[in-house]
Amino acid sequence: SIMPATLAAISNGAKRGVLFKGGVHLEHLATLDVVAFDKTGTLTTGKPVVTDFIVRDGLQEEDVLALLAGIESQSNHPLAIAITKYADERNIAYSRSLEIEDVPGHGLRAYSKNEEIFVGNPRFIGENHVANFQNNVAERLASEGKTVIFMKDEQGVMAAAALKDTLRQEAIDAIQALKQLGIETVMLTGDNERTAEVIAKEAGVDRYVAECLPETKVEQIKAMMQDGRQVGMIGDGINDAPALATATSGIAMGEGTDVALETADVVLMKNDLTKIPYTIQLSEKMNRIVK
Ligand code: ADP
Ligand code: MG
Repeated sequence: SIMPATLAAISNGAKRGVLFKGGVHLEHLATLDVVAFDKTGTLTTGKPVVTDFIVRDGLQEEDVLALLAGIESQSNHPLAIAITKYADERNIAYSRSLEIEDVPGHGLRAYSKNEEIFVGNPRFIGENHVANFQNNVAERLASEGKTVIFMKDEQGVMAAAALKDTLRQEAIDAIQALKQLGIETVMLTGDNERTAEVIAKEAGVDRYVAECLPETKVEQIKAMMQDGRQVGMIGDGINDAPALATATSGIAMGEGTDVALETADVVLMKNDLTKIPYTIQLSEKMNRIVK
């Protein structure tokens, strides 16, 4: 049977927008040694905006953007939504005639009768192609903490689009508070190395791992759990669900995808990351009374 102190703590959490799927999950929080965060949609708002669009010399900007929007408008990835919106705002007409294939963690592949076009991150496009594009403009944009995605045809890179996402102030505050509790903080992201480095520094995490595929996030959590360390994982995406299931405490953002919400042990109803250090302290308090 559930202890009165546990019930009271669960109810206190609920009042502050933290949902526990059972008393045991509240108990676990006090034991955490490490907390890992997903980047996009968790540390950031997950609503990126296009800041730069650069095309290959000799190509017409509007034509290239129309082609890119025709491809991205068929995806519901946050980056795809942002690029489609950018084209819409500029009144660019585009057609969805190209057939597309989703390549998770990388981008999109688009086909038509006589061409094949790739849209995605530097790893997908080819690091050498990217470094040679417009005096390595990607490096400059990534050093500003922007996510840079590329479009490539048979002749090489056609365009680069830079997107800036907004770091949540609560992310910075939560990370500081966790550090004061003696907890290690880590950022896990599918984004590229340079962008990840800049955002990790702004957020204040102890370390980060970039270019993570969903299975990489699971491997990273497992590695952290070696030596009996207890690990919390916070995420919002379908990509994060396996890692949420693996961690001691899986925590989902309330605005996250259904799969993340279902898989998690704890849900932050209002996406407020400062509730994590709060719930850890709530858990410590409860465990002192119960034990
Ligand atoms: P994250 O949201 O953490 O960046 P994802 O696995 O969703 O992780 O994506 C990893 C990377 O793959 C993105 O940062 C982006 O570079 C690339 N990518 C994924 N989907 C798209 C897309 N629709 N258009 C362009 N790039 C994409
Ligand atoms: Mg995410």
